[in-house]
Amino acid sequence: MRTLLWAWVLAAGLLAACSEQTSPDAGTDTGADASPPDVDWPLYGHDPGEMRYSALDEINQDNVGELGLAWSYELGSTRGVEATPIVVDGVMYVSAPWSIVHAIDAKSGAPVWTFDPEVNRQWGRWACCDVINRGVAVDGGRLFVGALDGRLIAVDRRTGDEIWSVQTTPTDKPYTITGAPRVAGGKVIIGNGGAEYGVRGYVSAYDVATGEMAWRFYTVPGNPEEPLEHPDLEIAMPTWSGGQWWEIGGGGTVWDSMAHDPDLGLIYVGVGNGSPWSRYIRSPGGGDNLFLASILAIDVETGRLKWHYQTVPGDNWDYTATQHIMLADLEMDGEVRKVLLQAPKNGFLYVIDRADGELLSATPYVAMNWASHVDIETGRPVEIVDGNYANEMKKVYPGPTGAHSWQPMSFSRRTNLLYVPAHDTGYWFSNDDDFEYNPAGGNLGMDFVATEEIWNADPPEYRGHLIAWDPIAKRPSWQKRFDGYFNGGLLSTAGGLLFQGKPDGSITAYRDSDGEVLWQTESTTGLFAPPVTYRIDGEQYVAIAAGMGGYEAVEYNPSRIINEYHNEGRVLVFKLGGTAPMPVSLKREQVLPDLPEQTASVDVIAEGKEHYRTYCGACHGPYAVSGLLVPDLRYLSPDKRTIFEYIVVDGAFRELGMPSFGDVLTKEDARAIHAYLLQRSYELKEELM
Ligand code: CA
Repeated sequence: MRTLLWAWVLAAGLLAACSEQTSPDAGTDTGADASPPDVDWPLYGHDPGEMRYSALDEINQDNVGELGLAWSYELGSTRGVEATPIVVDGVMYVSAPWSIVHAIDAKSGAPVWTFDPEVNRQWGRWACCDVINRGVAVDGGRLFVGALDGRLIAVDRRTGDEIWSVQTTPTDKPYTITGAPRVAGGKVIIGNGGAEYGVRGYVSAYDVATGEMAWRFYTVPGNPEEPLEHPDLEIAMPTWSGGQWWEIGGGGTVWDSMAHDPDLGLIYVGVGNGSPWSRYIRSPGGGDNLFLASILAIDVETGRLKWHYQTVPGDNWDYTATQHIMLADLEMDGEVRKVLLQAPKNGFLYVIDRADGELLSATPYVAMNWASHVDIETGRPVEIVDGNYANEMKKVYPGPTGAHSWQPMSFSRRTNLLYVPAHDTGYWFSNDDDFEYNPAGGNLGMDFVATEEIWNADPPEYRGHLIAWDPIAKRPSWQKRFDGYFNGGLLSTAGGLLFQGKPDGSITAYRDSDGEVLWQTESTTGLFAPPVTYRIDGEQYVAIAAGMGGYEAVEYNPSRIINEYHNEGRVLVFKLGGTAPMPVSLKREQVLPDLPEQTASVDVIAEGKEHYRTYCGACHGPYAVSGLLVPDLRYLSPDKRTIFEYIVVDGAFRELGMPSFGDVLTKEDARAIHAYLLQRSYELKEELM
């Protein structure tokens, strides 16, 4: 059945290729950002430089109003969907929660095959921000996916059968993979995440054919008593001082961004935050803590460092530099420069010479209070007192969700503008003076008890921006503000359009030159994954994967459709004159059941609250106000109350994605958590009255 479907798809693809005319690219392409023929969406960021711009223009400013749904495909999920679909030879490959890959006929939406790596659901415990997957890589007949549990798997792209699989992470540490692999120079390159729990970051390269490891680059030094794993760590080791960072891991995970310049032979990777967040705990003697929050230019062949730029020396605020890295050739002062663009969490937009790492500009693109500016001579941000929480709590902008997170940007060759899905977020930081490393929990180094009241009394403001940034003039050309934040990644096209999905379920096409809305449709699933476009049989399609995820994205978002409907993951594909009906998700109905009497003491409730914070809050919300991706525990049904300790300790609902905490919590602890949740239910009952 699978083979037959494939044969049909292949034949259709070949026919399409015969009749296909590749449209000439609008811009002047040189070097790394030269686009492949714009029929497919072959790579995560469309091209090796990850510009996310397509030269397709059949759908354009004049006819975009005729866009309608061509087909939709149900992913069978209710968790977060962040994937960029890859489209090659008429087949779409899209990854879903739990690293499940779906191959779909990109013209009809018919299923071709599904590959399920069967990730142990227990591993969901180590996913800070949901069990998401951002996409696959396709290279010839092979497809690569990083599984949540740290495996890198090669699959036959025609059949969906596994070719090889390697465990890229130690299985006794809380590593996860959520990012898309990239293929460069015959190698498949993959990072990992887990800095919020305590791991040591690195990026690895594997042979595409055999899965044999070619090189591994650690982003932070290990135990100073032990030999360095590679010579590039020599400059990093002296920048760490005091503390026992190697026990916690140090952080520096490479969990998302990469870009490739084949001419320079370099792979650029973005490095994440420190672990724990607080540098007062991580490296109390000071220091820059290389290579945290850095952009690394690594030789694809040798795995050695060519240059690095650290965006935040001594990161203290979860300011990862893992946000979208994009390579473009820009005319600056009469000269074409090969640059690298990044708008990381810390709020500065960087333009860097990608051949030698020279900082060309660093400009704030949102409001911030942790630094006044970047000294262009030294390349260092100038910190100000508002960001220093060593001795007192501070409300810092941007917060750990950043001024911009993983949602990809797009650079239009038509307008020469960089489109950034940015946001304002803030966070109350307070150093945990009594921090103790907990290998079974989160390790942020934050004092949540100290900040609890002020979070409610003086919460940070959250809002979204769509910024059309002029990287030469170093200012926005135009900008839109939204009440909702954490909006979707972007796609720009030669049709003069900019596409975006949002958590409110809308999908919008803006005019690229001024942001005017030219087309919009509504769906019943929130979106934040980036759209893609492709052409089959002379017809252009725009595709986007739908499904919200990550508790913070859900929790702090006023414009979320997830309040009203279940988070049913699906792929939505549009074309001119499309007439397929928009699928409708199941309506959400939350009714507070009758509550049992609270019999626990104040002390037990307090103890339950502490356990809840440590082990439950990351998914169910820090104050048990959540339940849009995972159940809102204030609404626990009477029968779940009866088996609560079996769920928490024995893992009764493990296959449904609720891990067991039997290694760290006793049944008595579980009963204390239940008592705390019951208190929260009574507080909710008051609110509802
Ligand atoms: Ca982080």
